[in-house]
Amino acid sequence: MSAPLPADSTVVVVGASLAGLRAAEEVRHEGHTGPVIVVGDELHAPYDRPPLSKQLLAGTWDVARIHHHAPEVIDTIGLEFRLGRRAVALDTAARVLTCDDGAALAYDGLIVATGAVPRRLPGTEDLPGVHTLRTLDDCLAIRAGLGAAGLGARVVVVGSGFIGAEVAATCRSLGATVAMVEALPSPMGRVLGDTMGSVLADLHRAQGVDVRVGVGVDRIEADPGGPDPLTVHLAGGDRLAADVVVVGIGVVPADGWLAGSGLTVEDGVVCDEHLFAAERVVAAGDVARWRRPASGELLRLEHWTNAAEGGAAAARNLLAGSEAAIPYDPVPFFWSDQYATKLQMIGVPRPDTEPVVVGGSADEGKLVALYPDGDRLAAVLALSQPRQLMSYRPLLAAGASFADALAHAST
Ligand code: FAD
Ligand code: NAP
Repeated sequence: MSAPLPADSTVVVVGASLAGLRAAEEVRHEGHTGPVIVVGDELHAPYDRPPLSKQLLAGTWDVARIHHHAPEVIDTIGLEFRLGRRAVALDTAARVLTCDDGAALAYDGLIVATGAVPRRLPGTEDLPGVHTLRTLDDCLAIRAGLGAAGLGARVVVVGSGFIGAEVAATCRSLGATVAMVEALPSPMGRVLGDTMGSVLADLHRAQGVDVRVGVGVDRIEADPGGPDPLTVHLAGGDRLAADVVVVGIGVVPADGWLAGSGLTVEDGVVCDEHLFAAERVVAAGDVARWRRPASGELLRLEHWTNAAEGGAAAARNLLAGSEAAIPYDPVPFFWSDQYATKLQMIGVPRPDTEPVVVGGSADEGKLVALYPDGDRLAAVLALSQPRQLMSYRPLLAAGASFADALAHAST
């Protein structure tokens, strides 16, 4: 049990990105007068990640546009930023956070918002031209690689989850020759199921992407300065020559620094339904795995809306104390822009369930599909049908039956 935080107490936020910034801002909005210190290991002022695989990579937006606050505003929002500082240890008994410069920050309330870091393809970590995409610097490095290769750059994306599919789409829009390699039977199949994953594969093929599914990457060879700076060897023996390789094979929560803290860390920071990880410690965003109020299961989401809403909710609950805290119970949502298609989903499909298409069709490039969970509605996918998608939100929030969702579709 934790009591409400006194208004003049010290709040420390670890992670200066979406969840951390929204949490820190919410602390201020709630009228907290004490110090709010935000520790972040990136040197850049907080910025938004979605444009890194879309507008910023395409060059249609410049860097200034992705920052959450303009430089002249950031110093006026009442937060004390410690940027370029990594949190390395947490003592929850003494309530002290230690940073890599040796600073020991005493806190009354702590918000953990350290997000996630990309998985690497073993053996490729130091290969020039092989990238992951998580940070602004990653995006600028990929852009530089594309620029150096010039018109008709050859790009191979490894993995066809969110990063792979979005980078493939953006690079095609820039005129690059793009191959997408995925070990699973379809792009984004883990999220969408194979039926909708195949629709996505067709979308990319129609745009000229060489989509290779059901095949893994054996190894990548580098020959800097040669005619083929990179060669991607596929498991079946095929080879793909590339100037730039982008590896998007998922992320792991940035929770290693919490070893020995006493927090439960299992695929993220385990939290209760109020986002409390321990007394006076909350977590939010990609790093937080919290107990969903309705089902009681633990869930970790890796999407923008969850980081924004979860950051604010965690901050309110930290200030209120655990007795007055409100369960965090969002309707999960994500979007992904690929070519002219806006892919959006609310809810979370069960693994290995296939949806029922209730409006539009793959041929039209517009559709709505419902995912069941037994006799309940689990999730709704829309391709370029934003208004129709949102009409299902109240049903999901109310835990509606699949039959009710089908009835809604026919109204
Ligand atoms: P992060 O954004 O990962 O921020 C965590 C911060 O903490 C980072 O700055 C990190 O460097 C820092 N940190 C980590 N460890 C430490 C430490 N020990 N000490 C100090 N600081 C630390 N979602 C969507 O819904 N739609 C989209 O279209 C979309 N597009 C995306 C495109 C890209 C390229 C990426 C990478 C993500 C995209 N996402 C999208 C996902 C969304 O951006 C993330 O879910 C969101 O950024 C998570 O926010 P977060 O604050 O929890 O974590
Ligand atoms: P992801 O969406 O989890 O997809 C990773 C894909 O790579 C999965 O299909 C995965 O399959 C596959 N994979 C894993 N290991 C592989 C290997 N060795 N070789 C080939 N494929 C492999 O992760 P991501 O695309 O890397 O995205 C990273 C993060 O950014 C995620 O948190 C994502 O949510 C976020 N992001 C979100 C958006 C958005 O919401 N629009 C956009 C960009 C990024 P398995 O499932 O079998 O491991």
